[in-house]
Amino acid sequence: MSHIVVLGSTNMDLVTFVEKAPQRGETVTGREFRTIPGGKGANQAVAAARAGATVSMIGAVGNDAFGTRLRSTLEQAGVDTGRLRTTEGDSGTAHVVVDDDGGNAIVVIPAANGTVDHLTPGDEELIASADALLLQLEIPLGAVLAGALTARAHGVRTILTPAPAQPLPVDLLNATDLLLPNEHEVATLTGRTDPRTAALALLDEVPEVVVTLGAAGCLYAARDAEPLTVPAPEVTAVDTTGAGDTFAGTLAVALAEGRPMPDALAWAAAASALSVQRPGASESMPHRPEIDAQYTS
Ligand code: ADP
Repeated sequence: MSHIVVLGSTNMDLVTFVEKAPQRGETVTGREFRTIPGGKGANQAVAAARAGATVSMIGAVGNDAFGTRLRSTLEQAGVDTGRLRTTEGDSGTAHVVVDDDGGNAIVVIPAANGTVDHLTPGDEELIASADALLLQLEIPLGAVLAGALTARAHGVRTILTPAPAQPLPVDLLNATDLLLPNEHEVATLTGRTDPRTAALALLDEVPEVVVTLGAAGCLYAARDAEPLTVPAPEVTAVDTTGAGDTFAGTLAVALAEGRPMPDALAWAAAASALSVQRPGASESMPHRPEIDAQYTS
């Protein structure tokens, strides 16, 4: 089995469902409230574990009730949490208001995730032993860079999802093997709205770029190959939350298993298409047999 390490965030999503979101100063009565384990790091870890890899998560939860649940959710998915630290204080939270038109507004409080600002020797050892390292931007940038440099020093492939969208320092891009932005993130990174132009521009800093394009699939660009578009299976989407994290986790597994890039991208697209047909983020992520069935169909 391939070994994937995820260095990133865990958040409890506090989701309120309401007909119409309140304006400033207004109070409204909502319909439903749910607490849903999430965070881009944890979501990518669950996706990779369900896709059949051995997965270890480096990050932090608080010593509150949310932290206990975030840890056990990862463990139930089969993710090794030996290097998921428990810190004094709150776990990360995302406060989400979803209205009946499907629009949402989100406030993220990093809390414990903000303490992941360095790597311990044990973290570095774990990264060095991996087949691939998955990174996102919901923990301090210094730790993301340290993770990428550790991976680079040991020949471990680094896959970075640049979310939340922000311009990135060149040294982080240069330490990344595969950059995996969505359309919005690639525009923020490059100032270019055309994904193909943006991806080609990024090749100055990163050897491989995959831009995910929602229902339109994805675009792959590399220094030594012609750009390639991989379509997404045509499905009826009910909830696209976590589609990008499903794509990242499953792509990492396929590449770690040595599958060629076009194959790996089609397999990740199959997995993501399954996830958008079900509600939720990590709970909608498919297991390996389902992905294989969708991939061959
Ligand atoms: P993010 O979730 O980060 O915004 P995207 O919306 O680009 O990322 O989705 C990631 C991947 O999920 C896409 O490349 C595609 O393979 C798959 N996907 C997303 N939306 C759909 C959809 N409506 N139908 C089929 N696949 C989808």
